[in-house]
Amino acid sequence: MAFEGLGERLQSTFDHMKSRGKVTDEDVKAMMREVRLALLEADVNYKVVKQFVNSVKDRATGQEVMKSLTPGQQVVKVVNEELTQLMGGEQAEIAKAAKGPTVVMMVGLQGAGKTTTSAKIANYLRKNKNRQPLMAAADVYRPAAIDQLETLGRQLNMPVFSLGTEADPVDIAKQSLAKAKEEHYDYLFIDTAGRLHVDDSLMDELQRMKEAVNPDEIMLVVDSMTGQDAVNVAESFNEQLGITGVTLTKLDGDTRGGAALSVKSVTDKPIKFAGTGEKIDAIEPFHPERMASRILG
Ligand code: GDP
Repeated sequence: MAFEGLGERLQSTFDHMKSRGKVTDEDVKAMMREVRLALLEADVNYKVVKQFVNSVKDRATGQEVMKSLTPGQQVVKVVNEELTQLMGGEQAEIAKAAKGPTVVMMVGLQGAGKTTTSAKIANYLRKNKNRQPLMAAADVYRPAAIDQLETLGRQLNMPVFSLGTEADPVDIAKQSLAKAKEEHYDYLFIDTAGRLHVDDSLMDELQRMKEAVNPDEIMLVVDSMTGQDAVNVAESFNEQLGITGVTLTKLDGDTRGGAALSVKSVTDKPIKFAGTGEKIDAIEPFHPERMASRILG
């Protein structure tokens, strides 16, 4: 991560200062300069940085210095807690319908990792929560997306519903839901089409699909390598479609993960999973506090 080592940077800012009984305004100001720089360097959205710095400032100023912590450690602790909050605080679970199959619409731009992530999460739920998932291939535009999902299904020995590339995606969604109900699957993952950019025809199709199957979860898949674009994409999908959760992919890469971290505060929708590699089991529930600690280094 680009801002790994922020913790050390903050500590060393404080090492230059004499130890005092209180964290002073000056101390906090100096620390906040470091925090602001580190976050901006990490490509965190500037509005998010501003908000973040203000909340840390408010909490850190005038605090009594705890015996067990140096002032530096104390501010680092506040930064850690606020970073955790920025990413949603608690770990957020994937939706679960009260009755019948839980319908999950997987949405996002082409190449973000939708198809792979559909299979990853389905497999994760089967392995760890004993759920029986059905996957539906509704990306009829990207060449080979259907084949890709079917191949993943065969590898995992998991059923894939498909009507080929000629069918209407909304019909595929409806029919896959009928099958999921009839055959008592716990989850239905609908792999929808992406585009290179957000556009009206994509949103229109996803909107119609949403009306047709009334999903319990609309999971936006975003590539954490795409910087500020990830934030803009998340904002558009959320405004136009209404997402309920986010999966960040490619966190294993040399990512400027900061932009992706802005996703939660910009959309106010939780990050639920993190993709950490190309392999099918390279997926994990997103833990805000672990991520915060990783960022702080
Ligand atoms: P889609 O167009 O959104 O369906 O994207 P795909 O599922 O085909 O994924 C695009 C590429 O990203 C593939 O080569 C995947 O193997 C890769 N990919 C997906 N998730 C991850 C991840 O978490 N880490 C890495 N390193 N690669 C990923």
